[in-house]
Amino acid sequence: MAKDYYQTLGVERTATTDEIKRAYRKLALQFHPDKNRGNPDAEEQFKEIAEAYEVLSDAQKRQNYDRFGYEGVKGQFRGGGFNWEDFHHASEFEDIFGDFFGSLFGMGGGGRRRARGRDLRINLEITLEDVLFGKETELSLKRLENCETCGGTGARRGSNPQTCRRCRGQGQIRIAQGFFSITTTCDVCGGRGKVIQDPCPDCHGQGRRNEKVSIKVRIPRGVETGTQLRMLEEGEAGPPGGERGDLYIALAVKAHPRYERDGIDLHCEQEVSFTQAALGDELTVETPYGPYTFKMPAGTQPGHRFRITNHGVPRADSESAPRGTLYVHIRLVVPKKLTDRQKELLREFGAAGGDETPSQQKGFFEKFRESMGFDH
Ligand SMILES: [Zn+2]
Ligand SMILES: [Zn+2]
Repeated sequence: MAKDYYQTLGVERTATTDEIKRAYRKLALQFHPDKNRGNPDAEEQFKEIAEAYEVLSDAQKRQNYDRFGYEGVKGQFRGGGFNWEDFHHASEFEDIFGDFFGSLFGMGGGGRRRARGRDLRINLEITLEDVLFGKETELSLKRLENCETCGGTGARRGSNPQTCRRCRGQGQIRIAQGFFSITTTCDVCGGRGKVIQDPCPDCHGQGRRNEKVSIKVRIPRGVETGTQLRMLEEGEAGPPGGERGDLYIALAVKAHPRYERDGIDLHCEQEVSFTQAALGDELTVETPYGPYTFKMPAGTQPGHRFRITNHGVPRADSESAPRGTLYVHIRLVVPKKLTDRQKELLREFGAAGGDETPSQQKGFFEKFRESMGFDH
């Protein structure tokens, strides 16, 4: 019995993803079980429509189907044929189905209820250099791994798990709800289809045990405190037949002794002497990307900041986009100890008018009053 998914949805073989989605939506409304009470064929029709949509809405599955027909996709369905648990789009059409799938599966409309290993979550402290240049690192952690003694079956070596009597090894049982019946995970064997009478002593029949593992992690450039990396299938091993959980790594960037970060920009201080600031100088400052030399003009004031573009933090979303800016804040260092000769020269400098600051200069207050509009 060859299935023609295109025919089921009533679309051309060249239909776009959007056309397929629209066609499915229209049919789902029409065959929705709530509107078809008393129609014994509705469930099968509804399910066939869902199966067709499950395959044609997924680029990879559709390609397999186009090349090999049903043979190319049936391996994707657990239990040899499409079941509601193979349907991944329950939440996509919440407006049509509401809590329909949720109430049947006892979940929030996620469409899947395969026993799955737990997700793991760890915190990782990194340096600013890691953020600027990216980093490959190895993490060691303890997580549930398949038990090697029993090969993950949970049964003592030499013994075998027994076929579950409740579901007769299917891992699933059918529950009727009105005209509509649904398959759900067997509550006795938890979907494994097997029960263990003689458990493996190393894992106590769990099929899994805690082990120390080390995993390679690539820290991308441009991340910040609060960035969470998700590593697919690096969480705990699932129960037999189930998939692994994921690993989430929450990043925190350590404070840096020289650079302060503000988004994609960096700030640092550069000490200069009074003479350098007054006369101007060629300054060489340390940047994360090596020394950078520029001309500091005569009369540079303390607190002035120079911008060095493209010397800040790389953007997380782009390899080629320019980096942020490095701001160099000028800090004037006043000498604490002076030689007699230096004192003499400075006094001379003062006597030559060097002690005057703009506010002490003649006419300053007059100009100030005028500019503020005060009367004399
Ligand atoms: Zn074991
Ligand atoms: Zn069972």
